Amino acid sequence: MGKMYGGGHRLKEGELKDNSSADFFACLAHSLFEGKHSATYKFGFLKSLLDNLFSSEKGDDGLFYLDLRTIASTFVTIYWNAVVLYDIPQMPMTSEGKTSGIARVFKDMLSANPLLKAPFESLRTDVKIEAMKKAYPVFKENVIGAFYYDTEGLIYGFSKKENCLWLNQNSMDFLSHHKSLIDQVNYYEWLKMCEKILKEHGLEPIPYLSTKLEEITKRVNLQPFKEALERDCGGNNICFYCGKPLRKGEGELDHVIPWSFIKSDPEWNFVFACRSCNNGKRDAIPSTEYLDLVQKRNERFNLGNHDMRALARIAAYNGVKTGWKPKKG
Ligand SMILES: [Zn+2]
Repeated sequence: MGKMYGGGHRLKEGELKDNSSADFFACLAHSLFEGKHSATYKFGFLKSLLDNLFSSEKGDDGLFYLDLRTIASTFVTIYWNAVVLYDIPQMPMTSEGKTSGIARVFKDMLSANPLLKAPFESLRTDVKIEAMKKAYPVFKENVIGAFYYDTEGLIYGFSKKENCLWLNQNSMDFLSHHKSLIDQVNYYEWLKMCEKILKEHGLEPIPYLSTKLEEITKRVNLQPFKEALERDCGGNNICFYCGKPLRKGEGELDHVIPWSFIKSDPEWNFVFACRSCNNGKRDAIPSTEYLDLVQKRNERFNLGNHDMRALARIAAYNGVKTGWKPKKG
């Protein structure tokens, strides 16, 4: 056996190795196709990492930092929806009928209160916090180090003590430029593993399994973001795109770079739009004049200086439609 698989669980931290000449595709393929999968954790983790990629913060050292708790909260959401909401088993059961650590935590919560069989997003805040509190140690213990080990430290470094993970420009470029492709391949391997687990245990096939798995990252209620944007940028009296006056409460939140691509809700990516523009734009990126306006708005209101044109180029590279403009008149 050449490479070792499936180690790294107990690593407390991992350095990001020199990846200037790394073959990232080979590295991912190694983890997704050959790595040892005792549970579906790695798929859930890779998805959570991709969903939070554009919420990373670039440090003065040129590295991109992500809070492990942010990644874990996405992980907890998708795992909850998979295990509790859709009953998709995520780990081969042992002879004693045990399931994976995180699934067990959630199942225990569910047996104490059957009303929790609901989308994670719709749970009460205290329940969400309880789920996170119970799952985070397992996430730290079993998830972060395993994927790091499989990818030989070439994609990210991490510190459990500092609760953070970091990428460099090379690994960031790779993941963001191939985000949609990696996302899809990850789903496919994840799906195959779920089917294998169902089959091994003689369980009934789950109808619409792929759809359910793809829908475990859900759009959340945007009301809190709406309130934050109104507070931070002062009012929403005209549509950002067509300039139509909006009555109070009439404005809809639009993800400038579509949600379908970034899968997260950072404030710097929101504008108020009228219903007609919001519906017309759908999953497209607006033309550069609007990207520049968003960037200026973000600078003016201290929402960070994300390079909107660069993000739009990355999204376009991933197949997102570009150049949307509102209908005039
Ligand atoms: Zn409009």
